[in-house]
Amino acid sequence: MSREGADMWNSSIGVDPTDARRPAGAPRPRLSPRFHTGYRRGRYGALAAAAVLAAVPVVGNELEGVRIHDAPDSTRVVLSTRDAPSYKILRLANPDRVVIDLFDTHVGRSFKTPVANSRVVGKIRSAYRQRVHYRVVLDLAQSATLEELVLAPIAPYRHRLVIDLYPERVERQDVEPAVRAPEGERDIVVAVDPGHGGEDPGAIGAGRIYEKTVVLAISRQLKRNLDGMAGLRAVMIRTGDYYVPLRGRVQRAQQKFGADYFVSVHADAFRTPRVSGASVYTLSERGASSETARWLAEKENRSDLVGGFGPVSFEDVDDAVARIVVDVSMDSKRNRSIELAETVLRALGRDVKLLRNRVGEAGFAVLKSPVMPSILVETGFLSNPDEARRLGTASYQRRIARAIANGIREYARDHPPAGTLLATMKDHGGVRYVVKRGDSLSVIAARHRISTRQLKARNGIVGDVIHVGQELMVPYAEASDS
Ligand SMILES: [Zn+2]
Repeated sequence: MSREGADMWNSSIGVDPTDARRPAGAPRPRLSPRFHTGYRRGRYGALAAAAVLAAVPVVGNELEGVRIHDAPDSTRVVLSTRDAPSYKILRLANPDRVVIDLFDTHVGRSFKTPVANSRVVGKIRSAYRQRVHYRVVLDLAQSATLEELVLAPIAPYRHRLVIDLYPERVERQDVEPAVRAPEGERDIVVAVDPGHGGEDPGAIGAGRIYEKTVVLAISRQLKRNLDGMAGLRAVMIRTGDYYVPLRGRVQRAQQKFGADYFVSVHADAFRTPRVSGASVYTLSERGASSETARWLAEKENRSDLVGGFGPVSFEDVDDAVARIVVDVSMDSKRNRSIELAETVLRALGRDVKLLRNRVGEAGFAVLKSPVMPSILVETGFLSNPDEARRLGTASYQRRIARAIANGIREYARDHPPAGTLLATMKDHGGVRYVVKRGDSLSVIAARHRISTRQLKARNGIVGDVIHVGQELMVPYAEASDS
């Protein structure tokens, strides 16, 4: 494109692209500049831009596809291209829209503009501009801030230009209402984190079985089990097939849900099909405890490059003060994480084959929470054909979820956080309960997931009569479901 061409391009829209690229106050994408190959008029000027464009081979780039994914807090638009994209993004008002110009780019015969089926993007249009450039327009259904980033190819994906749209009016429909229980009666909140999702399938096993699908199914079962246990309540970090950045997972657990524990659920693949069995990991202080652990950590952390943001480093978000707090709390948290991991590993070992009998340590980004005991469960290896088949069945998913839940409950009962129902039960060998109007022995027993017989035995009650205001001691529910 000539200099006039570049100027005409801009003047035809009548907006200075330098201002339009990123709305005021919007955060910068967390990606190192070397990933950006986009045309930046503000930095290089039109002449330099023209030179960059002139260097592109005659055939130019190809836009291979456009995909849209809704996540609870944002909508992601992915433009995949054969080569690194040279592009410009404009925000235009009335109507609110995002214009993406891909320079020297064509589309294949089979290319179809997708139908927008999203909360944020109302409609997508696309067309050639000056015969050699391709323009994609996103008509927004609601106002949103924008973050852009370019991702280098990583199997199975090519180059991708990613646009994340954050609605200004965030719909918080996935937040469970915060029930403020009285002191001493609150549930322990377990954040269940199904790994991967959306663009990031995780490991892919025999028979095209996807890690992201298997771990979501196991996580749902895990939540069901935990919710059925007295004093425990589970929240899901992702509830469907979409991607949540690794650091966003920990943030969501802590800030949104006030979680006490963090349990990330995965199913991985190794170089050789022979390796099989479940394993449990905690964050290593430095380095990984084994070759397998190092390999897995690399794979899991790379997830952010596939599904979303750049490599995560904990340090780059925390100021000096936060880091001191982290250093102090990290040691005790690490010990608690190891204890939680050991208890879950023992519980797993009673029910399923283990990879090894001790807890592994690795540098998983998702475990870098300074306050919550955090573990990562590798439920098995999709690279092992037998295990992949098992992991795909509902009965095995239920079995492994129940084992993980039993381990969490065991740990929670031994080390309940202060102010929780389980802490009260630990102190008193049960919990005090004052009979209210409308209560019966069977109602109270059912609510605490024990039998009427147990309740009567603990309180020395003969017959079925209780009265309002009477104090009962409700014992622990036994592990009837384990
Ligand atoms: Zn994984």
